[in-house]
Amino acid sequence: MILVIGGLDPSGGAGLVADVQAATALGVHPASVATLVTVQDTGKLVRVEPLAAELVLAQAQAVLSDMAVRAIKLGALGTAATGRELAQLLRTRPDIPLVTDPVLVATSGGALAEEPLRAVYRDELFPLSDVATPNSTEFAALGGETVFADLLRRGLGSCIVTGGEGSGPRVRHLVMRDGQSRNFDAGARLAGRFRGTGCSFATAIAAGLARGDSLETALAAAEAFVRRTLAQAIAPGRGPAVPGRW
Ligand code: PLP
Repeated sequence: MILVIGGLDPSGGAGLVADVQAATALGVHPASVATLVTVQDTGKLVRVEPLAAELVLAQAQAVLSDMAVRAIKLGALGTAATGRELAQLLRTRPDIPLVTDPVLVATSGGALAEEPLRAVYRDELFPLSDVATPNSTEFAALGGETVFADLLRRGLGSCIVTGGEGSGPRVRHLVMRDGQSRNFDAGARLAGRFRGTGCSFATAIAAGLARGDSLETALAAAEAFVRRTLAQAIAPGRGPAVPGRW
């Protein structure tokens, strides 16, 4: 069982619905905590309403005090207050692997995080995380190579900068860990535009860690999952396609 913490995208392409679909497809039960509600369709973000930090914390406490959670995945958090409350809670559970996907903007471009949350990621959440999965835009916005090299010395286990947004013929992720950086070749770039791939990838890594896989194994399995679900992607609306997570 894993705990996914993130925002509701009513189109079902990204956010909590994507997390729940990915975990379920991988045979892992997803306990699910909502941080914010969005108004968005497959192509545009119209409104973001963060839930009170205290309400997010209460949901997470209810799950963690009752259930045997084997990994936690953080998606969109929205506010610095929610980030701080969760960091305080997660500090009490160092036994549970933590995957942090720092969601700053929606695929369509609208903001999903207030600016002060960036410092909370850097100062509190990443140092507690086993894995961080920024995309290249988020990686740059959070300080890039210098900041993440320092975070790896301050407690972050590994950073995987996902390369799906790039434009080369192959998708390459940058994996930073143990003082080294290396490329992970994730295969040929597929034609078309997709959303919900970052959520799927991070949740699949959490599902692997929950099974007891090493990071290398979890990463390879997550990549294979994303590939498989992109090969059966659907276009449910007028915006980008979403992975067929089943
Ligand atoms: N969480 C929510 C609520 C979102 O709306 C989005 C994107 O729009 C994301 C997370 C990130 O989605 P992706 O997996 O495309 O990075």
